[in-house]
Amino acid sequence: MYLKSLELSGFKSFAKKAKLDFTSQVTAIVGPNGSGKSNVAEGFRFALGEQRVSAMRGKRTEDLIWNGSHTMGRAGRAKVSLTFDNTPKKGARLLDIDFDEVSVERVVHRDSSTDYLINGSAVRRKDIVELLAGANIGASGHHIISQGETDRILNVTPKERKVMLEEALGLKVFHYKKDESLRKLEKTEVNKGEVEAMRRELKPHLAFLKRQVEKIQKAHEMREELKALYKEYLQHEDFLLAREEKRLKEARTPLQNEYDELEKKHREATEALRRVEGGEDKAEKILAFERELADVRGRKDEISRELGRIEGAIEALKKAHESQKKQEDVGKKVSLTKVEDFVRELQKTFEEVHTASDVGVVQSIIIKAKTYAQGFLDSLRGEEKENVSESLDIEAQQEEKRALEKKFEDITHEEKRIERDYDSLRKEVEADQHSSREAERAVFAITTEQTKLRSKLEHIENETKILQIRREAFNEEKMEAEAFVGHESIVYKQVVDSEYEVNEEEHAKQRKHIERLKIRLEDAGGGSGDEILKEYEDVTERDSFLEHELEDLEKSTASLRDLIAELDDELQTTFKKGIQKINAQFGELFAVMFGGGTAALKVVREEIKKPKDTDIEAALSDDVPEEVEEGEEGVEITLSLPRKKIKGLQMLSGGERALTSIALLFAMSQVNPPPFLVLDETDAALDEANSRRYGDMIERLAQHSQLIVITHNRETMSRAGVLYGVTMGSDGVSQLLSVSFDEGVQFAK
Ligand code: ATP
Repeated sequence: MYLKSLELSGFKSFAKKAKLDFTSQVTAIVGPNGSGKSNVAEGFRFALGEQRVSAMRGKRTEDLIWNGSHTMGRAGRAKVSLTFDNTPKKGARLLDIDFDEVSVERVVHRDSSTDYLINGSAVRRKDIVELLAGANIGASGHHIISQGETDRILNVTPKERKVMLEEALGLKVFHYKKDESLRKLEKTEVNKGEVEAMRRELKPHLAFLKRQVEKIQKAHEMREELKALYKEYLQHEDFLLAREEKRLKEARTPLQNEYDELEKKHREATEALRRVEGGEDKAEKILAFERELADVRGRKDEISRELGRIEGAIEALKKAHESQKKQEDVGKKVSLTKVEDFVRELQKTFEEVHTASDVGVVQSIIIKAKTYAQGFLDSLRGEEKENVSESLDIEAQQEEKRALEKKFEDITHEEKRIERDYDSLRKEVEADQHSSREAERAVFAITTEQTKLRSKLEHIENETKILQIRREAFNEEKMEAEAFVGHESIVYKQVVDSEYEVNEEEHAKQRKHIERLKIRLEDAGGGSGDEILKEYEDVTERDSFLEHELEDLEKSTASLRDLIAELDDELQTTFKKGIQKINAQFGELFAVMFGGGTAALKVVREEIKKPKDTDIEAALSDDVPEEVEEGEEGVEITLSLPRKKIKGLQMLSGGERALTSIALLFAMSQVNPPPFLVLDETDAALDEANSRRYGDMIERLAQHSQLIVITHNRETMSRAGVLYGVTMGSDGVSQLLSVSFDEGVQFAK
């Protein structure tokens, strides 16, 4: 015996605590109509976790709680507990829980909240349902047959019947597992869908990040390459610059020295030139000399003319004197001698022209000649008049002539002196001109040389400037290198070895390569990309996590599907076997009940008829073609009564229906006997003969299950070991009391 007791309190009409102890294999509950017997059967359902209030004849949860009467107020809650003996029997416990006694308890409150307890500890409904399902006990199970529900198994559809049979066969646990697996599967599919969606969402971002990371890696490689390139390039460039700077400096110094030397020479030469060219006063002097000379000569000519006039006068006086003498001798005849003397004297005067140094002298000679000729003529004319006083004049004239000759002599001296000075000055000037030309040539030569040097120096200067620009560019390049690839790249060993060789072609190539890399790096964008790398790492990690998750989900989907298939398989085979066993019992019990005949369960597959998917015209016509689809499995009952040609269930009488269903219910119980069976007035429709057969079957069932029979039937009562009477006082409260058979018979009336 597994069932120990049932305790009700606040449940329906059981306002006060009422307890039934099941000390016998068969317990009968008896009492008048409306005393609360069925409430006891419903108390079982309630405690086992029944959720349909309608299965307990209520509309709302509140209907299950003592509603109060004029003498007793309503209860706040309904509580029912069912206690099992869970001591191991044949080495096994009824309930899979490590307690010798297990009480399952359910409490509902007016606010519809429900508590479930196992041995006083709060649990979930699921825990109770699972625990009991393992012992083939279910709330809505076949083992609680409510009043008027006896032939329910005959009235239901084949599909519903199959469910009832499965439950009776203890397959509910498989269904439960299957449902749970299906739920899990559904949930897993949902999760899978979510994970897939997440992965789909991640995919473009991941792809984007991957491209970024590849770029960053490329940029990193380029930066490394640039770093190495810079190290060598900068070292070489520095070396080349230093070498060039040194070369230019070395080339410049001697040239500059030479230039400075030339500059000194140039200064000296210009000084010399300036000196020789400083003869302006000399030119002045020459002009002064020339003016002086002309003046002296002018004066000399005057003296000369005067002298000529005086000499002519003297001559004339002399001639006049002589001719006077001759005239005195030869009349007024001009003597040939006198004319010859005059000509000779004239020739002599003109002879001087040959020795004349310049025009002035010639002029003075001409004047002298003219004066002389005048004098000769005058002497010829005047001889006659003045011959007496003339001897006196000659003497005065002679005196004047001597004075003039003295003057002439002086001025000639003066002229000679001036000519001498003038000549020497001219010579001096000529000499000066010569040395000036020499100095000029020297200055020119120096200037030419200087120009050559200057051009060379300028060339060096230009080169130096270009080099400076290159040096500045180099410094900028260093800064740029530092900015691009860090300080490390500009740390290099300075080359001082003059023998060091740099392949300049290679060097130029490196320069170009560096430029190209810089452009590409700039295109690739700056920054270390650490954030992107981190994000890529995170997203990849997330993606692979999701991938694993998906794999796991796929695995569990597969294993759930396997499990479901296995459960289906097990259900199928256990069900088929179970049906066979039930059939054997059913047939036998049926024959016992009816004194012959046959009855059997038949597994069928439902046929679902639905209109064929055709055109509208065909659909509108009366003769709609139908398509038959195979539906779900169900169980039908086939039977034949002895001596009657009854084939269908619907043709049975009320009593026959009761007998058939009892035979089936009992057959079901026999195959997989539940620990207890509650039968609420299952025997109501039976006549006396059938009540006996029913009573026999009760005893037969009681061999495997504890029975709680609610009955008015005396025969049934007689098979019970313990009888409880249910009474209801005027306060509307049901009460329980243990009664004897006779009392019970009385009670039932
Ligand atoms: P019968 O022999 O006619 O089938 P019974 O003994 O099975 O009768 P029940 O149907 O179990 O009687 O009891 C019905 C009684 O319980 C009714 O009188 C009803 O008023 C009472 N009842 C049901 N629910 C409640 C409730 N929530 N509060 C108080 N009384 C209730």
